[in-house]
Amino acid sequence: MATSSGLLAGRLALVTGGGSGIGRAVCSIFAREGAILAVADRNKSGAEQTVSSLPDSSQHTAYETNVASATEVSKLLQDIESKYKQVPSVAVHAAGINKDNFLLKLDEQTFDDVVNVNLKGTFLVNQALARAMVKWQVQDGSIVNISSIVGKNGNLGQANYAASKAGVIGFTKTAAKELARYKIRVNVILPGFIETPMTAGVPENVTQMIVDMIPLRRMGTPEEIAEVCAFLASTRSSYITGAVIDVNGGLNF
Ligand code: NAP
Repeated sequence: MATSSGLLAGRLALVTGGGSGIGRAVCSIFAREGAILAVADRNKSGAEQTVSSLPDSSQHTAYETNVASATEVSKLLQDIESKYKQVPSVAVHAAGINKDNFLLKLDEQTFDDVVNVNLKGTFLVNQALARAMVKWQVQDGSIVNISSIVGKNGNLGQANYAASKAGVIGFTKTAAKELARYKIRVNVILPGFIETPMTAGVPENVTQMIVDMIPLRRMGTPEEIAEVCAFLASTRSSYITGAVIDVNGGLNF
């Protein structure tokens, strides 16, 4: 049974990228706040591990989905609807990748791969969700997209990633304007430098260099992003839509 108390009591929540890092922390904190989780990831075993780590794990479900595929995203929403007899009323779209290289060396395929997952995936997930929410006349719908500080400031070796994440910001602002009339809010978080598998491969000296630039002098934790997601997903933020929220320890490189 869903927890009857908490910011998200009884809400069905979709979390993409829920099999790792920030997405997994979102699942954990949303479950603490009483939500029922549909955990989607292209890494099925990661999504399954997330589900089994949650209290009352039998009420949550893992889905294998590639967010860059319209067919798979559409099937995901259908599968959730047929299992839960409702559609998600809150969602965090955290699935994302980076494939870094300097601009002079960046090949077309690598550019396309990152844009397809990070930007086209955002379009596909938001559109499918919004259509489902409108069809079901969901009240208090909330979608939280995850961009990056790099989408605002750019970063060496990340032209593809920066372009995709800047796109997520513009996309979110537009979606917020279009979907407000349906009582669906859409916001975007720009994490700074967060301890997850995505940043685990950054060399020690580079990590130290970045940490030295962060006013709070440390990397962020996935939970610190997830807490803001919980606020944005919940009705506590009922007058916030189209907002771009930095969660970066004060970093502004
Ligand atoms: P992560 O630990 O690598 O988690 C991302 C998850 O998304 C992984 O399970 C990954 O699966 C999955 N995924 C990748 N492509 C997918 C696809 N096409 N369809 C479905 N799932 C897919 O990374 P993270 O750090 O938690 O990142 C989460 C989000 O935060 C990303 O959008 C990232 O760009 C953003 N972000 C992270 C940081 C940071 O410092 N960590 C900073 C700013 C923004 P695989 O393991 O198979 O790839």
